Amino acid sequence: MMTMTSKAADAAALLIAWYDRHHRDLPWRISPAMAARGVRPDPYHIWMSEVMLQQTTVQAVKAYFEKFRGLWPTVGDLAAADTEEVMKAWAGLGYYARARNLKKCAEAVARDHGGVFPDTEEGLKALPGIGDYTAAAVAAIAFNRQSAVLDGNVERVISRLHAIETPLPAAKPQMRALVAAMTPQERPGDFAQGMMDLGATICTPRRPACALCPLNSHCLALKIADPETFPRKAAKKEKPLRLGAAFVAIDPSGAVYLRKRADTGLLGGMTEVPGTAWTSRVDGDNSIDARPFPAQWQACGAITHVFTHFELRLSVYRATVAGASPGIGNGWWEPAETLGAQALPTVMKKAIAQAIPHAFATVGTEPKRQMRKTTA
Ligand code: SF4
Repeated sequence: MMTMTSKAADAAALLIAWYDRHHRDLPWRISPAMAARGVRPDPYHIWMSEVMLQQTTVQAVKAYFEKFRGLWPTVGDLAAADTEEVMKAWAGLGYYARARNLKKCAEAVARDHGGVFPDTEEGLKALPGIGDYTAAAVAAIAFNRQSAVLDGNVERVISRLHAIETPLPAAKPQMRALVAAMTPQERPGDFAQGMMDLGATICTPRRPACALCPLNSHCLALKIADPETFPRKAAKKEKPLRLGAAFVAIDPSGAVYLRKRADTGLLGGMTEVPGTAWTSRVDGDNSIDARPFPAQWQACGAITHVFTHFELRLSVYRATVAGASPGIGNGWWEPAETLGAQALPTVMKKAIAQAIPHAFATVGTEPKRQMRKTTA
């Protein structure tokens, strides 16, 4: 059992009192009032939301969470689902390894645990795709375990409270220890969610609303410096550039020629238009010469897309192909009306939209990233 200093205990109590009044209503959450009546959140919902929230904003996740809960109301339903359908439902959320891990984890819970999530950090960490952060978050929020939960929002709050000079990511162990020292025995799940909400709504990256902050009397950054300069960050390395080409073939009815990517690797199992490999070689062939089959190909510009470890620039070509399948492997012609329902990652939607401007009603960039950890 952890001994809390009275200062840390006071800060934790202030935070929980603030959370009781100002918590965000989120579709996977149980309000403090309901929790006080003994209602516990569904671990399946907490786990699924936490996996979705890795590197994606709450706003973007809400609709996906509702969709998944509607399609697969229990972890057993998700375990039994067709992987292709899960990938389709995930399309647009990015970081597709998370969708594959979500499915594998659901299968493990259904097969090895009778459909019941383990209720400890260690038990959760033994499941596929659950790392330190997700295990701590699910243990704290779903099972009220005294786990130290450290996501991007919490890192910001704790770095400011203690004016931590060590830059990220080297500061993480120190941050985790400070959060652990502050996490109370009573209501650790609400404490974790309170820290997340404070970081998301008050202790924001820019212009934190310190006057409204329940922890302002404890905050060292506010006393000695400009809170916005925390957390300190190591200088960013520039992302390497990769180049490639995408070929959008359209038949006279408006159908688009699609194919499935290999199951392993980046965007594994997702749908794409034919294209080249993505290479860092500037002399790699991303010209019309790389076309997958003969047709009247026309260049229609380029799109860029930023992945975790590199930036991709894709030259896009378009051709209208008369008649049936050009016979280039195991692709298929997807009618224009059902294009949006395919498991197309955002980069492919951008490429298709570049060739066919009205192919999708709304095609944007990947949802804005939040500072959450991911292995994708
Ligand atoms: S006082 Fe300001 S900087 Fe400090 S934790 Fe609160 S919002 Fe963040």
